[in-house]
Amino acid sequence: MVAPVKLLVIVPHPDDEVFGSGGTLLDFLSHNEPCALLTLTTGDAGRNLGLCETREELAALRRQELADCLDTLGFLRHPASAHEQYTFPDGDVAAHLRDITPLIHDAFETYQPEIVLTFPPDGLNGHPDHVATHQVVKAVWDALPPDRRPRLWYYALQVEWLGTLLPGYLPPNRVHDVSAFVTQKLRAMGCHRSQGITLANTLRRFPERVTHEPFHEVLPDPRSG
Ligand SMILES: [Zn+2]
Repeated sequence: MVAPVKLLVIVPHPDDEVFGSGGTLLDFLSHNEPCALLTLTTGDAGRNLGLCETREELAALRRQELADCLDTLGFLRHPASAHEQYTFPDGDVAAHLRDITPLIHDAFETYQPEIVLTFPPDGLNGHPDHVATHQVVKAVWDALPPDRRPRLWYYALQVEWLGTLLPGYLPPNRVHDVSAFVTQKLRAMGCHRSQGITLANTLRRFPERVTHEPFHEVLPDPRSG
């Protein structure tokens, strides 16, 4: 029996785990609370900046970058923490929801997370893999009896950071001040070297998110029950 984890993060791509929640992970891990991560693709459709020739080489590079990132976060220091890497096609997660659904269900059972974190309905930026990941996690969560559901958090962006809001946008209703962990978070972000342009764009658009990580927690609908 694996010890229950504090936070289970479910995302499609290597690097999705660190920009929005690296500080929160560092916070939990530093308090000796185990965390788990499911990465659904190897990110082999991402930018390669000329660092490699083929999708296979990029997949291998990004695996190493993610391992370095998790090492920097101290992710696997706690014996109950875990990382599961899958190889669903980057860019086509939506075509594999039938295969992904049982994996997510098993992860809920195995890790008994207090909190599950994934993308919001709009994928934060509309990326189809982000949207599909939201859909599959939400469907598994909805299928659980209400008293067995973990808390459900989504990545979120402040409305004033955005020009136009995508359909399904959800505003943050909690913000974690992770400024105490900013040095390690930046170091972990920097591990995703092949995604340097994405990293630079994220820092340029959302610098506040380095020190303050906003989330949308799904709260019980007061009209139901
Ligand atoms: Zn992503």
